[in-house]
Amino acid sequence: MRTLIAANWKMHGGLDWVAKTAEFDKILPQGQRGDIDVLICPPTLYVAAMAKNEDGVLIGAQNCHHAFQGAHTGEISSAMLRDAGVHYVIVGHSERRAQGETDADVNAKADAATTARLTPIVCVGESLKQRQAGQASNVVEHQLIKSLPDDLDDYVVAYEPIWAIGTGEVPTLSDIKDMHTHIRNIVGKRVRILYGGSVKPANAQDILGTKNVNGALIGGASLEMESLAAIARAAMD
Ligand code: PEP
Repeated sequence: MRTLIAANWKMHGGLDWVAKTAEFDKILPQGQRGDIDVLICPPTLYVAAMAKNEDGVLIGAQNCHHAFQGAHTGEISSAMLRDAGVHYVIVGHSERRAQGETDADVNAKADAATTARLTPIVCVGESLKQRQAGQASNVVEHQLIKSLPDDLDDYVVAYEPIWAIGTGEVPTLSDIKDMHTHIRNIVGKRVRILYGGSVKPANAQDILGTKNVNGALIGGASLEMESLAAIARAAMD
């Protein structure tokens, strides 16, 4: 199974960041990436320009609408993303769930993505309160059952404990292993399971070396190409 190192730039950057795939390729050339897939999900405005890169960096989107066409002002469909050269789309990020996106919405977006031949990265994860109450595995299991696309295994799961996103807090390796094993038992052998939440060059090797962790979804540490490349290198060690 190939490892997926996925960058979520959120609402950071500008048009000049289109050149970042070339910068990444200079630091970690395509021919030296082994079994690692490197994916960058920039703001949607830049996906078409970035998808033209010849640096071996895959381009993804951070969201899509569940419909293919229609009267949905300001929205972008999975089919449009596919037209723009995108291969992956993040759905159900906790920052979107916090704005009211439900498991049913995430499921509809994930289905729209697979229909457009995009691979959805379905995000799940518990709040601190839920972890402290011992509900983390149940919460994640419930989110998976309700959010995953109908397609058998053409998707990626990103386990992102909400309390670890952008905080510098990371679960213990044993907690990561337990949750990823739990997810593996639900999704089967062929689905890649990413860990996300304060992954940095300093902790990447330990996290990526944990059983059933098949890559990482990275926010803050993905904005600098040196740091993203260091995380990709850690996945190769
Ligand atoms: C994220 O937003 O998906 C994320 C994992 O962010 P960070 O790496 O900054 O915690």
